[in-house]
Amino acid sequence: MRTVIRNVTALTMDPSRPLLTGIDIAIEGATLAAVGGVPADFAPDEAIDGRELLALPAFFNAHTHAAMTLERGWAEDLAFEQWLNDKIWVAESALEEEDVYWGAALACCEMVRAGVVGFADHYFWMDQVARVVEESGMKALLAWCHFGIGTEHELGQTPFEETVAFVERWKGAAGGRVRTTMGPHSLYMDPPGVLRRIAEEAHRVGVGVHFHLAESQEQMDNSVARYGLTPVAHAAALGLLDLPEATIAAHCNVVTGDDLALLAEKGTWVAHTAKTYQKLAMAMPPIASMIAAGVNVALGTDGPASNSDLNLFEVMRAVGLYQKGVQQDPQAMPRMALLRLATEAPAAALGFTGSGVLAPGRPADVILLDTTAPHWIPRHDLAAGVVYTANSGDVAYVWCDGRLLYRRGDYLTLDVERIRWEAERRAFRMVGQPMQSMRAYQG
Ligand SMILES: [Zn+2]
Repeated sequence: MRTVIRNVTALTMDPSRPLLTGIDIAIEGATLAAVGGVPADFAPDEAIDGRELLALPAFFNAHTHAAMTLERGWAEDLAFEQWLNDKIWVAESALEEEDVYWGAALACCEMVRAGVVGFADHYFWMDQVARVVEESGMKALLAWCHFGIGTEHELGQTPFEETVAFVERWKGAAGGRVRTTMGPHSLYMDPPGVLRRIAEEAHRVGVGVHFHLAESQEQMDNSVARYGLTPVAHAAALGLLDLPEATIAAHCNVVTGDDLALLAEKGTWVAHTAKTYQKLAMAMPPIASMIAAGVNVALGTDGPASNSDLNLFEVMRAVGLYQKGVQQDPQAMPRMALLRLATEAPAAALGFTGSGVLAPGRPADVILLDTTAPHWIPRHDLAAGVVYTANSGDVAYVWCDGRLLYRRGDYLTLDVERIRWEAERRAFRMVGQPMQSMRAYQG
């Protein structure tokens, strides 16, 4: 399949030529054949008029629990412990394997519509999520969440071997669009003996790890009291920061200066999900200090039960506004830096190297935004438009690996009507409520 986008403006995220106007972009198979300078003899199967459209690298989401779309709006205005113990785990106790398929499918519909083509997912029954990724044409790094029980050995609802078998079964599947990684829940839910085994298995299979790390002062205090180490230092001591592929440490809300030096030295990716921290009133990670210390940072949404959406426009905006406000510095988080944190950075964290930049030879993970809505006018600064005024309704076209997934309201790979119905029906069943099309505000 050959596509050409004519007369388009592109925010390429290529530092050598970040903004190109009135250019043509050529997609051939899964690859960007040309970004400007399309050869005259390039014969496309489809030509798109790119006037009034803005081309961007597609977004990637560095940390989520996609099927938690089913719990969106189920636990509101609660502190983290109540949110988790009284609401989320109660709903999840009724979770069935097929629910994960429909919850993840709903998440994929939402992400595609918001220009997100890849996500790092961490949940249960991950074969179901892998199926959705395969069918949707998206990309993902998938981890089967693993809880430990007891001090050193036996384990949660899914046997350890089964979670490892998942990693091997789907590694590199769907033409490389499905990648896998090990997925312990956290240092406080998996005992040290289990975490060491996870590091061993990651070496044997040749993958990385994705887990929650250092989310609160309480976790910091408990770790220091029990192990004499901060959570980050403990993760390093367990071998979780030295694996064949990337370590994604979600959150790192409470860290020391030494922790930042260690994360930078190890090349660990910190997934930063600012909206969740604000909504659950958690400590805000020192993202500016992390970046200044050389830590790899990438943006994510976390699960829709907390965020409450899967929209990277929203996350970029939340990070920019919060950091400028709290640092009392309008230059604290420049708009191009925010864009990079939602495109090239998470793509690299997930192992989809080459994505996140529009340049010849790169994967054709591209979106086109319609810039004709009133909130775009006048178009003085397109990067500011993307970060501070755009919304997911502006996304007009979405390609992943050169395959068109979405075109002006139409999903080309996902049956959105069926998915919406199945997901909502199952979400109400999980919490013991009758199916209704909408529920009133419950106070
Ligand atoms: Zn999470």
